[in-house]
Amino acid sequence: MVVKRKKKEILVLGGGPAGMMAAIAAARHGAKVTLLERMPEPGLKLCASGGGRSNITNTLANEPFMDKLGRQGRFAEPALSLMGSIQLREFLASINIPTHTPNGFHVYPICENATQVRDALQAEAVRCKVKVMTNMQVVELVRTGERVSGVKLSKGSMTADAVIIATGSCGYPALGGNDSGYALARSVGHTMAPLAPALVPIITRERWPGELAGVSLPDVRVWLDLPGHSREGLRGDLLFTHNGISGPAVLDMSGAIARLLTKQFAVPMRIDLLPKEKAEQTLARFADWRTRSGKKLVVNLLATEVGLPHSFARQLLALSGAEPEVIAAELPAIARDQLVAQLHGLLLTARDTEGFKRAMVVRGGIALRDITSETLESEKLWGLYFAGEVLDIDGPCGGYNLQWAFASGWLAGLAAAGALPK
Ligand SMILES: Cc1cc2nc3c(=O)[nH]c(=O)nc-3n(C[C@H](O)[C@H](O)[C@H](O)COP(=O)(O)OP(=O)(O)OC[C@H]3O[C@@H](n4cnc5c(N)ncnc54)[C@H](O)[C@@H]3O)c2cc1C
Repeated sequence: MVVKRKKKEILVLGGGPAGMMAAIAAARHGAKVTLLERMPEPGLKLCASGGGRSNITNTLANEPFMDKLGRQGRFAEPALSLMGSIQLREFLASINIPTHTPNGFHVYPICENATQVRDALQAEAVRCKVKVMTNMQVVELVRTGERVSGVKLSKGSMTADAVIIATGSCGYPALGGNDSGYALARSVGHTMAPLAPALVPIITRERWPGELAGVSLPDVRVWLDLPGHSREGLRGDLLFTHNGISGPAVLDMSGAIARLLTKQFAVPMRIDLLPKEKAEQTLARFADWRTRSGKKLVVNLLATEVGLPHSFARQLLALSGAEPEVIAAELPAIARDQLVAQLHGLLLTARDTEGFKRAMVVRGGIALRDITSETLESEKLWGLYFAGEVLDIDGPCGGYNLQWAFASGWLAGLAAAGALPK
């Protein structure tokens, strides 16, 4: 008589990229998988990612990729070795989401449509016989001895051989962010690394950026003007918002700023608007304008010759104490020196961030020390696994966070199904 082995039953909590990948990986390897999503539809953050285009990953090899994940980066090695950027792009192509790299670094789906990525993942999960259940909020883990044996939902309960927590972070609550995953982990003895909003716009003490909301400055250099912080800073575009500033370089610094703001009232930031030239070269520009374009308005020269948006050039003149209608030949030396100083070190003071409500990623989360990186299994409760942003690991702008979610989901799904390659 042939005895049919019972299929391993796995519950995946959360239908973001990490949860959907975990469900697909486990189901493809013979497990009976149910995916529980608390929102009316899965993957809302994924649908909003990259401004709706979804910057899925990037072209970095695993080693430099891990360096960008900071102190905890090496924890991602086993996941990335199974589902790094190359394997992820192959996987996505296999489910009809071919990708491309318009600038040679950032990877986007060719369709440039994040919702299509979510739909393809969901379709693949259903094809693999994953039962996808929405409006299902998991509120408690059920344990039998040292093993997880199921979950309680806001209504009813379910049993399982393994549970994967892929509930994401508490950032962007409008897109499903909440702290229930942290609470589930804490209930079985996991500890937390303190949470801080990261990849979040900065609120400045200065009010004038609000008047320029929507204006962007390409390729500036931003650094924190504090002892112990490198003046090298970060390069990228800067965007003025209603409350302050945003853009890739600012977002990438926002996690560090949020942490500093827990200890001090304000964080001074400096912006070099012309990182490709030295202050002396800028000074020489002004001398040249005085002799060759003396009758032209300085505000117009700043716009046409330096490439600053006109509205921002006007603001810069005001900050430098120059008359708005001053011509190059009549720019006082003191205002000229001020302008050069502003162009190479404009001061903006962070007084707050836009908080978890607008945090694209959250720094901190479930501490990694009680989780085995090779399987993403809990060391506190057998059969419990983790994936994605719920863990204390995060990266800068540029596809790092989705790549981590996809890779960790894949690893957790394989491990929970007992299908890890030897
Ligand atoms: C606006 C925006 C733009 C972004 N753009 C990019 C980008 O271009 N590139 C990039 O790399 N990263 C980007 N990110 C970050 C990236 O989207 C996240 O890091 C990633 O989605 C995390 O995946 P996850 O599966 O771990 O969590 P999530 O995507 O947050 O998914 C978790 C899911 O779990 C569900 N859930 C939570 N609690 C429960 C519960 N108790 N029971 C059941 N279900 C639950 C949630 O509703 C959610 O659907 C962006 C984020 C935002 C908000």
